[in-house]
Amino acid sequence: MAGEAEYAAIELHVLRAARVGPSTMRVTFGGEKVDDFTSGGRDQRFKLFLPHPHQEAPVVPVDAGEDWFTAWRMQDPAERAVMRTYTVAAQRPGELDVDFVLHGDGAHAGPAAAWAASAGEGDRVLVLGPLSPDNSAIDFRPPEGTDHYLVAADETALPAAAGILAHLPAGTRVQVWISVPEAGDRRELPTAADAEVTWLVRGDGEDIVRAVREADVPAGGTPYAWIAGESAMVKALRRNLVNDRGVDRKAVCFTGYWRRGATEEDLLAEVIAGGTPHLDED
Ligand SMILES: Cc1cc2nc3c(=O)[nH]c(=O)nc-3n(C[C@H](O)[C@H](O)[C@H](O)COP(=O)(O)OP(=O)(O)OC[C@H]3O[C@@H](n4cnc5c(N)ncnc54)[C@H](O)[C@@H]3O)c2cc1C
Repeated sequence: MAGEAEYAAIELHVLRAARVGPSTMRVTFGGEKVDDFTSGGRDQRFKLFLPHPHQEAPVVPVDAGEDWFTAWRMQDPAERAVMRTYTVAAQRPGELDVDFVLHGDGAHAGPAAAWAASAGEGDRVLVLGPLSPDNSAIDFRPPEGTDHYLVAADETALPAAAGILAHLPAGTRVQVWISVPEAGDRRELPTAADAEVTWLVRGDGEDIVRAVREADVPAGGTPYAWIAGESAMVKALRRNLVNDRGVDRKAVCFTGYWRRGATEEDLLAEVIAGGTPHLDED
């Protein structure tokens, strides 16, 4: 499917699914070739292809080689697989975990959230997965000499933030802000780093943008910031760091993981039309 050997189309099926908090379903995938998927950790993302409710398996033009994307776009949207972007939450031999946020409910849920809400053993998906841990679908790349890390995420970027924290070695200083819908969505974030984690529970009126604006972030040094989540939140946080605090814009890695009111197809259409994915540059 992908032309270069960096990624491969890998068929997976659900081994089990379990709630890991009020807002999230952890789906564990297996499959004959699941171990070909080689996560590099941190914020490792991948493309996930899901069947429509009337289908047994996702319809993906895997035979189109390098041209799979063009071929996929030309297929009937009602039949071609639903393509979404997700993060590796964990990987063990024979198993790959993905944490799906169950946003919306019933008819209001997006197709991926709806799929995850009812995922059951044997359900089939296809992923475009990395074949090497050093792959281009990892965005967390601090420059050498970074002496202070700032990580801000909402619940969709919680698996990525957890992956980053698991990756940071002992002796690194990291300030972390995570916005979640409910108190029950908070979880342990194992790390060897010297981490100061602040949870912001939106259901309790807590606001991540206000929290970061009011935070005591050391000035100077060589900071590196990683921000991901809902696009408006990401933009506001980036502005605070770059415009108000003078953090070098090149040291701020920011990604809109979703945008209120827009489906992933809408965002993809913007990219194809020449816009910036999910976010506009200031
Ligand atoms: C690099 C990257 C990594 C990501 N990793 C993860 C991950 O590990 N886990 C995860 O859950 N998500 C992750 N996301 C976000 C996920 O791809 C989007 O939330 C996606 O829109 C979900 O698809 P859907 O079919 O459920 O909803 P869509 O059909 O895309 O959207 C339907 C409607 O729901 C709204 N919506 C979408 N997501 C949310 C949300 N979380 N909360 C409230 N409303 C929403 C949209 O604005 C739209 O109005 C990631 C995104 C990116 C770019």
